[in-house]
Amino acid sequence: MAGNDRSPVTVIGLGLMGQALAAAFVKSGHPTTVWNRSAGKAEGLVAQGAVLAATPAEAVAAAGLIVVCVSDNDVLHDVLDPLGNALAGKVLVNLSSGSSDQARTNAEWAAKQGFDYLDGAIMTVPPAIGAPESVIFYAGPQKAFEQHSETLSLLGGRTTHLGEDHALAPLYDVALLGVMWGTLNSFLQGAALLGTAGVEASAFLPWAAQWLDTVKMFATDYAGQIDAKDGVYPANDATMEVHIGAAKHLLHESAAQGVNAELPAFVNGLMERTVAAGHMKNSYASMIELFRTPQK
Ligand code: NAP
Repeated sequence: MAGNDRSPVTVIGLGLMGQALAAAFVKSGHPTTVWNRSAGKAEGLVAQGAVLAATPAEAVAAAGLIVVCVSDNDVLHDVLDPLGNALAGKVLVNLSSGSSDQARTNAEWAAKQGFDYLDGAIMTVPPAIGAPESVIFYAGPQKAFEQHSETLSLLGGRTTHLGEDHALAPLYDVALLGVMWGTLNSFLQGAALLGTAGVEASAFLPWAAQWLDTVKMFATDYAGQIDAKDGVYPANDATMEVHIGAAKHLLHESAAQGVNAELPAFVNGLMERTVAAGHMKNSYASMIELFRTPQK
């Protein structure tokens, strides 16, 4: 019978994301126990076959793999700390967003309590849980990840163990979110600028999307230059001098067309500081030196 040969899983936290995670386990036949502060959110899952635990202690006792997805790490501790050493011998997977410090502190807590801890980062939205292209990162003991990788891969086809350092999951999380916001902000700023000439965002979109392929080509070269850590940034495509000249056009057009020029002005400022530091003839990758340094 479906479910009998699958290992039990517990999911704590049934917000939008927790419900999607639990549903993926239930659908795959894993005996799934759930707990949520507001028990009503478990109704749909119970109808699909999940078991609603009356308390967090009951939920933790029901499985060797405990997946937690609550608002943040403070909530995780509010729920789990009162349970003492109930997690001993189990694997706790924390898919709540948090910081690298919290991930490392949680790992110390796990070591003291005698359980394995994996810190995770979900790089998708609830409706895409279980999809082949969905990326979910894990960081922590390789052995614990391998023990449950088949079960965890039900949550996303691109389930990836980043390494043993628990901090890696939250760090990758925010680094990728930064790429997302940087890209989206530039797209929106460009759409506002083109909008002054009557161009719709949907007409701009295919060109912006294709341009990302070109940007990826630049970044591929720059990644090697950054990793070399030798302070040498050959301008194989364009010098900082050329970049800053073009950036000034964006700044000028934004002001001239009457749209918000804060983003171009900020980027322009970063470029000017890099040029002033002696990188006029270097590639755009030389900006890494500024990003590596805390702002004054
Ligand atoms: P959500 O819908 O707001 O759910 C929050 C969950 O935390 C609920 O289960 C809620 O319980 C619980 N909670 C909050 N405060 C609590 C407390 N004091 N005691 C006990 N439980 C408490 O959020 P979500 O979208 O599921 O997100 C959950 C986590 O996943 C967050 O860390 C989020 O950053 C991360 N994440 C979400 C997405 C996304 O697209 N949604 C994507 C990636 C990562 P109640 O139901 O009782 O309020």
